[in-house]
Amino acid sequence: MEGNPRYVVYLDMDSFFASCEMLRHPELKEKPFAVVTNSADKFRGVVQTASYAARKYGIHSGMPTAKALHLYADLYCIKEDYDYYERISNEVMEIIRSYGFKIEVVSVDEAAIDTAGLEEFKVIEMARDIKSRILDELKLICTIGIANGKTFAKMACDSAKPNGFLFIKENETVEFIKYKRVSDIPGVGAKTEEKLSGLNIHYIDDIAKSNVQVLVGLLGEYGSELYKLSKGIDEEKIISDYVALSISREKNLYEDTNDVATIMAQLKELSEDAANSARSAKKLYKSITVKVRYYDFSTKIKTKTLSYYSDSADILYSEASELIRPLIKGNMLVRRVGVKVSSLTDSSHQNKLF
Ligand SMILES: [Mg+2]
Repeated sequence: MEGNPRYVVYLDMDSFFASCEMLRHPELKEKPFAVVTNSADKFRGVVQTASYAARKYGIHSGMPTAKALHLYADLYCIKEDYDYYERISNEVMEIIRSYGFKIEVVSVDEAAIDTAGLEEFKVIEMARDIKSRILDELKLICTIGIANGKTFAKMACDSAKPNGFLFIKENETVEFIKYKRVSDIPGVGAKTEEKLSGLNIHYIDDIAKSNVQVLVGLLGEYGSELYKLSKGIDEEKIISDYVALSISREKNLYEDTNDVATIMAQLKELSEDAANSARSAKKLYKSITVKVRYYDFSTKIKTKTLSYYSDSADILYSEASELIRPLIKGNMLVRRVGVKVSSLTDSSHQNKLF
């Protein structure tokens, strides 16, 4: 794995606050509305997120509500409900964490995953899986950018919005950033932009063609960072104190059923996915949990702890199928099946027994 580029998957939820509001107010779907800081006194608040229908009127986040109302007088304003957005954010992060990689929660609706040298096709597969699970399980849309570094991955994400997916191969990074403006680099503010503009530097390619000493003279250490970025070198680290506690997969069945073969086939697929993720994240598991949700939304869970660590999909499936068997019974139709591995340890720190 060490030979692969260290790709970062950057995920940003699309118009997050507005999408959260649409989940509980489906009637708002096509309407121009905005989530604002103060709805009691509309003329003092600021727009936090504008729905896509509202954006058509030129309304965007950061705009004073008074100005937004001037652009569209019938704009429906909802006061922000941060606790609610945070609860949904936790569910999003839960899905991202279930793959066992180091992640940085950048903000309530953004996260960066350090894939630690995972093979390219597996990185893409995981990212696609995350995007479709967020849609499938939470009914929310996100954009994902993947590149060799956090800064580039965020830039890929920014340029793919909304509902986008963009993978930048390591050797195509320079080509990708070349014609972007310096202000497209995350962290470059108006001041830096102005200073660079004084040297006639407007595009990232201009940085690449300039002299690193001059940049350092102008911006200090940051000048040399920008120079490296312009050459396709992104040294920004993923800051994470998160340790993966479990890796899980769950999925609704095609239709509610009590057919053992159908449920087992689903369980087998989920076990393979979960074991694959454990191997990709270099983790071994010791505990196995299965979850069954019935047609009436009641849920049953069963757990078993092995006497050894493993990363085998076969062992996972065979143990999980024994756990799940007594949960499939009579006319309790099953809606959803899940499998989880926990009590994880790093495979590099452990002599495998299996
Ligand atoms: Mg966002």
